[in-house]
Amino acid sequence: MLSMLRTRTIGRHICRRSFVAAADNSTSSRNDKPLKTGAVIFDMGGVIVPSPGHLFTEYESRFDLPHGTFLKMIKYNGQDGTWAKLERGEISWNEFCRSFSDEFAEVAGRKIDLHPMLQHLETSDGNPVIYKEIVDAIKCIRAEGIQTALLTNNWFDKTGKNTFMPVDRNLFNVVVESCKINIRKPDPRAFTVTLEKLEVRPEEVIFLDDLGMNLKVAKELGLRTIKVTSPVQATSDLSKELGFDVRYYADGTTSVPKNLEISSKNLKSYLNWALKIHSKEDPVVRCYAHGQSNPTYFIRYGGKNMVLRKKPPGKLLPSAHAIEREYRVMKAVQAHGVPVPKMLDLCKDESLLGTPFFVMEHVEGRLFKDLKLSGMSHDERRAVYSSMCETLARIHSVDINKAELADYGKQGSYMKRNFIHWTKQYEASKTHEIASMDKLRDWLQQRIPQHEKCTLIHGDYRLDNLIYHPTKPEVVAVIDWELSTLGDPISDLANNCFCYYLDDHFPSETLQMFVSLSGHDVAELGIPSFNEYISQYYKLLRMAPEADLSFYMCFVFYRIASIAQGIYKRFLIGQASSPSAEATGLLASTVADIGWKIACNSEIPPNPTTGEMVNSQGSNRGYCTLSSTRRRTPSRVEAKGSLNVQNYSTSKERDIPGCLPLSVSALSPRAQDYYKKVKELICKEIIPREKEFYDFAVNPDNKWKIHPVLEELKEKAKSQGLWNLFLPVDSDPEGMWGPQLTNVEYAYICEEMGRCPVSPEVFNCSAPDTGNMEVLVRYGTEEQKQRWLIPLMEGKIRSCFGMTEPDVASSDATNIQAEIKHEGNEYVINGHKWWTSGAMDPRCKLCIFMGKTSSDGHIYKQQSMILVPMDTPGIKIIRPLTVFGYDESPHGHADILFENVRVPESNLLLGEGCGFEIAQGRLGPGRVHHCMRLIGLAERALQIMVDRVQNRVAFGKPLSEQGSIQQDIARSRIEIDQCRLLVLKAAHMMDTVGNKVAAPDLAMIKVAVPNMAQTVIDRAIQSCGALGVSQDVPLALYFTMARSIRLADGPDEVHLKAIFKMERRTQNMAKL
Ligand SMILES: Cc1cc2nc3c(=O)[nH]c(=O)nc-3n(C[C@H](O)[C@H](O)[C@H](O)COP(=O)(O)OP(=O)(O)OC[C@H]3O[C@@H](n4cnc5c(N)ncnc54)[C@H](O)[C@@H]3O)c2cc1C
Repeated sequence: MLSMLRTRTIGRHICRRSFVAAADNSTSSRNDKPLKTGAVIFDMGGVIVPSPGHLFTEYESRFDLPHGTFLKMIKYNGQDGTWAKLERGEISWNEFCRSFSDEFAEVAGRKIDLHPMLQHLETSDGNPVIYKEIVDAIKCIRAEGIQTALLTNNWFDKTGKNTFMPVDRNLFNVVVESCKINIRKPDPRAFTVTLEKLEVRPEEVIFLDDLGMNLKVAKELGLRTIKVTSPVQATSDLSKELGFDVRYYADGTTSVPKNLEISSKNLKSYLNWALKIHSKEDPVVRCYAHGQSNPTYFIRYGGKNMVLRKKPPGKLLPSAHAIEREYRVMKAVQAHGVPVPKMLDLCKDESLLGTPFFVMEHVEGRLFKDLKLSGMSHDERRAVYSSMCETLARIHSVDINKAELADYGKQGSYMKRNFIHWTKQYEASKTHEIASMDKLRDWLQQRIPQHEKCTLIHGDYRLDNLIYHPTKPEVVAVIDWELSTLGDPISDLANNCFCYYLDDHFPSETLQMFVSLSGHDVAELGIPSFNEYISQYYKLLRMAPEADLSFYMCFVFYRIASIAQGIYKRFLIGQASSPSAEATGLLASTVADIGWKIACNSEIPPNPTTGEMVNSQGSNRGYCTLSSTRRRTPSRVEAKGSLNVQNYSTSKERDIPGCLPLSVSALSPRAQDYYKKVKELICKEIIPREKEFYDFAVNPDNKWKIHPVLEELKEKAKSQGLWNLFLPVDSDPEGMWGPQLTNVEYAYICEEMGRCPVSPEVFNCSAPDTGNMEVLVRYGTEEQKQRWLIPLMEGKIRSCFGMTEPDVASSDATNIQAEIKHEGNEYVINGHKWWTSGAMDPRCKLCIFMGKTSSDGHIYKQQSMILVPMDTPGIKIIRPLTVFGYDESPHGHADILFENVRVPESNLLLGEGCGFEIAQGRLGPGRVHHCMRLIGLAERALQIMVDRVQNRVAFGKPLSEQGSIQQDIARSRIEIDQCRLLVLKAAHMMDTVGNKVAAPDLAMIKVAVPNMAQTVIDRAIQSCGALGVSQDVPLALYFTMARSIRLADGPDEVHLKAIFKMERRTQNMAKL
C-alpha cells in the first residue's frame, strides 16, 4: 500500500515534467533538442483514417473515369463548390448529394449515379479502417500530459445532427469540426479557433495532415508540421519531433523518464540471447506509471508484448525492492492455480540494465480502478467480485511446502510483528495527539490474535492489482506481489474489504485506496455485500468463519492512519513529494476514528496473556519476573491508564510475557546461539590480540590508523550473522538490519563484548554509531537512510555525535549555543563542539550535530539535529582531546569548529525543534549499552585481579590469602552481580513496558554501573601493584573508560537528580 501511495505521485510527476533530450542509446528514443510541446493537432481523413480519396479512386475505376477526377473537381470548384459548402455546414446532406451529382455531371460530361459512393461517405461504415499506429501515438501523447486535438473538415449526415466520426472523441481534448464552426481548412481561422480552445501558442503545437495546402497555412501561422504519407512514417516523425517514442501504447504506461532509462542496446541483445526473440527494430520500451516502487516497463519486441520489472537504481535498503522474491513467488504459484503472468526469466546480472530484473509475459486484459464498476451490468459486477474473491482464496490455498515457499517469510506472529512495525512508524511521525489512534493501539494490542493461520499472502490485494479478461469477468492475472510474504490470510481479506467501510468523501482522486463502496447500495449495483463477500471466501476455503473480523479491520485502519500520519509529517518538514500530502496526512485522524468506531462495536475480549502485561504510569510500573500465564485483572489505575505495553518475552518460552531470564541458559535457544558464537569469537580471536591492538594504537606511527586485522575480524563476524546485534526488535520489527534480539538478550551478549574494548566494533555494535544508527532508523527519511544508514549498518563508515560545547555547561543541553540557520534550501551551521567521540577516526564520515534553529519558543523546542558530512567545507578539527592522557586512537575525541558549514535542508532530522525529542529516542537502548559493556569490563578486571593475587606472594603467602584482598574480591562479585541484575531489569523493562516507563531504571544503572566498574577496576589495580597502572595490563585503560563514562553519558549528578524527581513523584502519587 505504501508503494501505491508513492506511485500515484510518480505518475503525476511524469505528466508534468518537461521533455529533455535523452542519451543516444536510451530507450525513450528522444532526440537531441526536442522543443517543448503543449499540444498535437491531428487531421482525420488521411491521418487517422484513410482519406476519402481512396473511396473516390475506387469509384473512378468502377465508373471508368480518369484517376483523380473527383479531387480535381473539388479543387476546381474551390470555396464555392458544394463539397466546401457541405464541410462548412452551409448545406444539408441531401442538398449536397443533388448538387454534387450535378457538378459532377458537368465535369464528367455524363450523368452517373453517385448514390452508392455518397452513402459510403455519409457514414463511418464507409471508412471502417482506423490506423492503430496513430491511435496508439495519440494515447502515448496523452499519457505524457500533452493535449491532443482533432481539426477536421467534416460534414453532417442526412439527419443533420451527427457528423462523420469513426474515432473515439475521448482521444482528444479538443475536437474542431468545420461543419460546426462554419470554417474549413485551409482557412487560417480554423487553426486559430483550435489554438484558442487548447489555450496554447502556435510554436507549442505540432500539426499533422496529409494535404500540403493545410500544412502550408499551419506553418505560416507558426505551427510545427508533419506531412503524413503513412501511419508508420507519421509516428516515426512524430516521435522525433516530440522527443519520445510514440510507436506503441500499452494501458497505464508513459514514456521512460530520464532517471529510469535503460540501455536499448543491452536490452535488445538480452532479448535475443536469453529469450531468443529477434527483430530488426529496436524494442519499444514504455514505463508503467502506476502501482510499483520497482520500475516496471512495457516491452514490445519481435511482435511480443512483455513486462520487465527491475530494482530501482541507486543504493537500496536491504530486503527492500526484492524483485527476486517477486519472481520467485509468481513463478511458484503459477503451477498452483493462481493466475499470474507467465514468468520468462530472472536476470541478476547488473551489468545489463544497471540492476537485476525479471521479464514476464504481458497479459492483455482490463484493470478496474473504479470499485463501483460503472458501466457494467448487475451480473457482470457480481461476477467480477466473485472472481476476485475466488482468486484470493486460491492464493491462500497454495500449499507452501509443495510450492517450495515454506521459507518465503517468517512463520507465525505476523499480526504482532505488523502491529509493532506500524506502531513504531506512527510514533516516529507523530505530530499531534490523535486520541482515537492511541485508543485503537491499546485496543489492538490487547487483541493480537494468539492463533493465526499462516499461508502465502499477497500483502496488497485490491481490485486494481488484478487484470481481468478483456471481455469476461475473470481474473487472468494477479500483479504487484511486492509485499507478499507468509502471514495471516485474514489480513489479506480485511485489506481487500477495506473499501466497504469508507465514506464517499475520501479524495479518491488523491489516493486510490480511498475509493469507496460505502454510501452506495451495493445490492442494487449487483456487488456482494461485505458479509456475502467474506462468506464466499470462507466457503471457498472450507474454513469456519472468524467470529469477528473487527480486529483485522481495525488493524487495516490503524495501518493506513499510520501511513497517512507519516505523509503528513513529511509534509510538515518539507519533504512531501506530493502536492496532496497535507490533505492526505490530515486524513490520519479520520481514518483512525473509523477504526476506533469499528473497535467500539466489536465484542472481542482482550487476550488473557496480553492482559497480563497491562500496566500504567507513575508508581504502578507493572512488570513481572515470573513465568506465568495467569491473567491478572488490571487495577483501577491500570485500567484507565494508557496501555503503552510491549510484548516481548525474553524467556525460552517467548510467548509468555514477563519472564526475566536470570542466566544465559534461560534465554531462547536462538539468543543462546548468538551468545555462544560471539563469546567464542571474542575469546579465540579478539582477547588474545588485545595487547597487539593496544600497542598498535599507542605507537605514534599509527596515529589515527586502523589496525589491519580489525576489518578482517569484522568480515568474519558479519559472515556468521553476528552483526548489528544491538538493534532491538521493536526498532527493527521486520528484521531488516539485525537478528532482532530483545534488550535482555543483547544485555548478555553486550556484556561479553564489554570484556575487551575492541570487541564491539567487530560486531558493528560500538558507540556512538549504535545510537546514531538508532536515530536514523527511527527518524531518518528514506533518502537519509539510503545515504547514511546503509553504510553504517554495513560497517563501511563510522559516525560521531556533536552536542557538547566548551563554552557552556553541556550537562544541560538547553545551554548549547551552536546555530543551525535556514537559508534558502540550505542550513548554515556555526558552532564550537568538543568531546566529539569518534571524529578522529579516518572512517568517520557523518556527524549528527545538535544546535539551535531558534532562540524563541519553548526551551526544549529550540534545538534541532542535522546530518553533517564530515568532509563539508567549514569543518575544522582543532585537536584531539585526551582522556587521562590517552588519545584513544583511532577513535579519538575531537575539538571541532564548524564555520559556515552548509548542508542541504533535507539533512535536517525529523524537523526543526525536534532535537530533544530525538535525543530522548537516541538515548533509548543506546543508554544501556555502556552499562552492559561495563559489567563485562568489571568482570575482566576481577578476573585479572583473581589471577594475579593467587600467584603473587607477599609476606610469606599469596596475596589471595590476605583478608582485605578476599573481601575486595567478594565485594566486587556482589557489586557486579547487583549491577548486572539492575541492568537486566532495566533492559527487561524496556522490552516489556517501553523506554519511557523504564526511565528511572535507566537512570539508576547509569549511576550504579560506572561507579561499580570504576571501584572494581580500582581494586584490581591496587591488587596488581604498580603493574596495575602500567601498559602491561589493560587496567589503566579500563579505569579511564569507566571513570569517563560517569561524565560522557551525562554526569552522575544529572541522573541522580532525575531519579530523585521520579522518586518524589512516585511517593506523592502513592499518597493520593
Ligand atoms: C570520554 C568522553 C566522551 C564524550 N563523548 C561525547 C560525544 O561523543 N559527544 C558529545 O556531545 N559529548 C561527549 N562528551 C561530553 C559529555 O557528554 C559532557 O562532558 C557531559 O554532558 C557534561 O557536560 P560538561 O562537560 O559541559 O560539564 P558541565 O555541564 O560543565 O558540568 C560540570 C559538572 O557539574 C556538575 N553538575 C552538572 N549538573 C549538575 C547538577 N544538576 N547537580 C549537581 N551537579 C551538577 C557535575 O559534577 C558535572 O560533572 C564526552 C565526554 C567524555 C569525558
